[in-house]
Amino acid sequence: MKIGSRKIRETYLPFALPDTDGTEIELVTESIQSGWLTTGPKTKQFESAFKKNIHAEYSIAVNSCTAAMHLALEAIGLKAEDEVITSPYTFAATAEVVRYFNAKPIFVDIRSNDFNINVDLIESAITSRTRAIIPVHIAGLPADLDAIFTIAEKYNLAVIEDAAHAFPVRYRERMIGSPPPSSNIMHAVCFSFYATKTITTGEGGMICTNNEEIAERCRVMALHGISKDAWKRYTAEGSWYYEIVAPGFKYNMTDIAAGIGLAQLAKAEQMRQRRQKIAQRYTQAFASLPHLQTPSDRDDCQHAWHLYMLRLNPDRFPGLASLPNPDKGGDGGVRAAFIRELKVRNIGASVHFIPLHLHPYYRETYGHRPEDFPVAYREYLREVSLPIYSKMSDDDVTDVISAILDIVEQFGE
Ligand SMILES: *Cc1c(COP(=O)(O)O)cnc(C)c1O
Repeated sequence: MKIGSRKIRETYLPFALPDTDGTEIELVTESIQSGWLTTGPKTKQFESAFKKNIHAEYSIAVNSCTAAMHLALEAIGLKAEDEVITSPYTFAATAEVVRYFNAKPIFVDIRSNDFNINVDLIESAITSRTRAIIPVHIAGLPADLDAIFTIAEKYNLAVIEDAAHAFPVRYRERMIGSPPPSSNIMHAVCFSFYATKTITTGEGGMICTNNEEIAERCRVMALHGISKDAWKRYTAEGSWYYEIVAPGFKYNMTDIAAGIGLAQLAKAEQMRQRRQKIAQRYTQAFASLPHLQTPSDRDDCQHAWHLYMLRLNPDRFPGLASLPNPDKGGDGGVRAAFIRELKVRNIGASVHFIPLHLHPYYRETYGHRPEDFPVAYREYLREVSLPIYSKMSDDDVTDVISAILDIVEQFGE
């Protein structure tokens, strides 16, 4: 058969799709009909239901995870010239929020087994200016939190978790979002409800913490720095009087979004279990092939399976290496060709992530070179994320597997 002519399925399988049904529509309609379109009772209900789910004392709903991380860093008092340790293997948001303060993101390389920050390298990155660590639970597999908390306590650092991929998921005995074992650590966890995340509100985010001061500061700063329950000022028990205590932001969640969130929250664990089944099928199909490396799991944690991060062994694909590479991304040629071949077979795929230190802004601002974080660079070049979402049917999963086996057969050796 001619290269690129193989049809696995008639219609294109998107890389990601939200899982919504009548309940979202019902609750959004309720919000609209109630007259509370912006922050109101539905947002409060979503906040309580969410914090109950992950066993946190305080939860503040906002309009993105980026906003959540910005507020959390503001609440811990991050200042210009401070340093924040994080992984280069993440989305733009994780480091840009540090730059909002004119503070400096200090990247620490990842582990090759699971793309999470290599905790063994953290201590040597700490200086007198270090204020916080932002671990990213990449793909939904928790980072080594206990080790991170130990370091944070020893050096008096805050820990702000980027849990954009990590809901709902258990780390050892506790849910991601729960407080650390030691109450000496300044700590907050930030979740994302972006359209393609494990639960969605369209756009949205949540800050969870057990620290009353962080919670109070985030709540005030999320709505213009207005002192007390600003959202209540138009209710019967509210008052027209308010005080601005700081120049805050406009980061509040709307009741329309919270309606979607409440519907999503009710089926979050069911959706996670469906993704886990899909991951099991992929791993079963690919684990024995020398061409591919399946993602690792941990016995002591759950995996939220927000992403299925497959890796190619490029040496095993001589047939792909020789194809022209029209995509940017230089030496990831085999991976780029692999994604194009998936597309020819009507399967969507993506790459997570282009490490931050490779992007022009971070390269130019800090003089980073690709090899500065060699594991992140090397693993990025061979990473392909496969579709994994609860709306996928068993046949969809079969199609992804068939397409990959077909590519391996046609181009592998
Ligand atoms: C999506 C994402 C974010 C940002 O989430 P928003 O809700 O879109 O602001 C942050 N970190 C990671 C790792 C993400 O994937």
